[in-house]
Amino acid sequence: MNATALADLSADDLAALLEEQRAAYEQLKAQGLKLDLTRGKPSSEQLDLADDLLRLPTSTKDASGVDVRNYGGLEGLRELREMFAELLWVEPDQVVAGGNSSLSMMRDCLVWMMLFGAVDSERPWSTEEKVRFVCPVPGYDRHFTLLESLGIEMVTVPMHDDGPDADAVAALVADDPSIRGMWIVPTYANPTGAICSQDVAARLAAMPTAAPDFKIFWDNAYALHHLTEDEAKSADILTLASAAGHPDRPIMFASTSKISYAGAGVAFLAASTGNVGWYLGHLGNGSIGPDKVNHLRHAEFFGSPQGVRDHMAKHRAIIAPKFAEVDRVLTERLGGRGVATWNSPTGGYFVNLDVVPGTASRVVALAKEAGIALTPAGSSFPYKRDPDDTNIRLAPTMPPLAEVTQAMEAVATCVLLAAAEKASA
Ligand code: PMP
Repeated sequence: MNATALADLSADDLAALLEEQRAAYEQLKAQGLKLDLTRGKPSSEQLDLADDLLRLPTSTKDASGVDVRNYGGLEGLRELREMFAELLWVEPDQVVAGGNSSLSMMRDCLVWMMLFGAVDSERPWSTEEKVRFVCPVPGYDRHFTLLESLGIEMVTVPMHDDGPDADAVAALVADDPSIRGMWIVPTYANPTGAICSQDVAARLAAMPTAAPDFKIFWDNAYALHHLTEDEAKSADILTLASAAGHPDRPIMFASTSKISYAGAGVAFLAASTGNVGWYLGHLGNGSIGPDKVNHLRHAEFFGSPQGVRDHMAKHRAIIAPKFAEVDRVLTERLGGRGVATWNSPTGGYFVNLDVVPGTASRVVALAKEAGIALTPAGSSFPYKRDPDDTNIRLAPTMPPLAEVTQAMEAVATCVLLAAAEKASA
């Protein structure tokens, strides 16, 4: 491994490196690869772990004897809510178990806030002159497209290793009542892997906001998705907000999409009893009850909160080696070159790769031409605009390990080639 930083190379050595990478890239293209690192999906091996679900439930009745095949029980099956309340460190009465998608629950909340107002709003958000959200970046692309689709403007703040920049958030929300809420993925954030510290969470829970009905969309999609034995515990945002006098500020979301089945899991919302009542009130206008058969089979399958934790250890055994492989290849190929930085997440589904500013789009385009699909550059930013064109999100869970290796070797070549082109320009 030649580990000289590109910036320290002589003009001749840089020219040689550029030629070397061009040749490597041509070889890469000749391989006719077809690999995909775009979306954070579980692999089929992971999905197989939950296949007993296909033979469940064995009962048609819940613990209190109610027939789960019938209408009713809008808030979801009690025993499943109890199980996930323990896992999310909240009370069962604060939890709603819904359909298969927490993103849909987030969408419903936002749509109802726009149409009717939040539980503590004076009027519908859509009647305000402007509605804006604070978005830590890089962040989850679907959060941003959802806001965009509703005409909610986005204001960015940096995402640090301990969560969103709390000073920046506090400064934005203090005087501007058009800022009605913020996103946060508190545990193993998409895509940076950051874990929101207790301190940052406490500040967000307590900060004064000009909007009286400010909301924190606490998307804990990866709460239980540890990649190491050092299992992060999410900050207890509901208690923090309640203690600070803002019980209705946070709404927590989670799901079993990456625990059981991504397409047939169970999603959860957890919040103050006021928020839960508000949510169920609106939900009840369009639903007579959730899929309690799915709730029951999940409750039977896991058996207990510990059953869920044990199941997650099986996921970890499958995906941790893929993350290790991403790190190995990047370290071996790019270490010391001064062309990229990346994180080694301790949980979640992504590796965040920052390449030479101005080259992320080029890297993604080069990779595409060589048959490797990467998430489009800029995807982790509102309006798909990465101001520095530097960020690339890698999702290594879905392909088999050997393909992760191939794909990452290819990515490394593209990163080096784009960096050498830029340095030579
Ligand atoms: N939130 C985050 C941060 C995610 O990364 C994802 C999946 N990519 C989701 C929500 C989607 O969750 P669900 O499947 O429950 O809709």
